[in-house]
Amino acid sequence: MTKRKCLFCNEDANSKEHVWPQWILKLLPSRRPVRQRLGTGKDVTYSGDFKLKGVCSTCNNGWMSELEAEVKSILGPILQDLSIQLDLEDQKKLARWAFKTAIVLEGTKERSMKRYFASGLGPALKTSGDIQGWTMIWIGRSSESGLYARAADLRYDLDGQNSSAEATVTTMVVGHVVFQVVSAVFPPEKDAELVRIPLYAEDWEQVLAKIWPPSRVFTWPPPQSIGPGDRLSLERVADRWKVLPEAQTSPLAD
Ligand SMILES: [Zn+2]
Repeated sequence: MTKRKCLFCNEDANSKEHVWPQWILKLLPSRRPVRQRLGTGKDVTYSGDFKLKGVCSTCNNGWMSELEAEVKSILGPILQDLSIQLDLEDQKKLARWAFKTAIVLEGTKERSMKRYFASGLGPALKTSGDIQGWTMIWIGRSSESGLYARAADLRYDLDGQNSSAEATVTTMVVGHVVFQVVSAVFPPEKDAELVRIPLYAEDWEQVLAKIWPPSRVFTWPPPQSIGPGDRLSLERVADRWKVLPEAQTSPLAD
């Protein structure tokens, strides 16, 4: 069996990393188990203390620990449901953190399962802090606090022929914050700017604010929350890209 490589560089994955950082677990009022479903895998629940041997010690103790320190003053308050203004820099930090966590979560998939994040995306995040590839990230407020992760892998037929795009949609709940990371890979002959991939028609701006790419300063939280007693459930948000043929479509670029 070959040794696992670090998700973010070329070293051997020799270090155990907390998938959910300790500082976050300490801020959550109750230590309920994490609920998770990745790709074609089953629903699983596990303790928030879960560690993955998916990174090297240089990454773990270096840029990854710096990223946690950097995001703490922003993610800390909002996951505890405090209202704050998020400027563009704050949004970039939250986006980097969400992107890193989505890549780490994918690293917890069984080896036989397909990986969607292109292999260069982790190293680019490490070396330059860049979120590369065709990636968009949103945040919303969960009315219930918890830890939850779901990654859905999607495939879009682009023109009825052999051309298709693949995307992975990672929806995470961290305390009161819902993150959604959408990362898509288009065939090289397609201009990604012109491709429209479908999305359920809904007033998403009421519940989700786009933080990557960031475009405007806003005050957290968005006008409407996500949860069992709210207009939109977490399932509905997580599944918003799973469009059936009859559903209305809208351009992805907003
Ligand atoms: Zn590394």
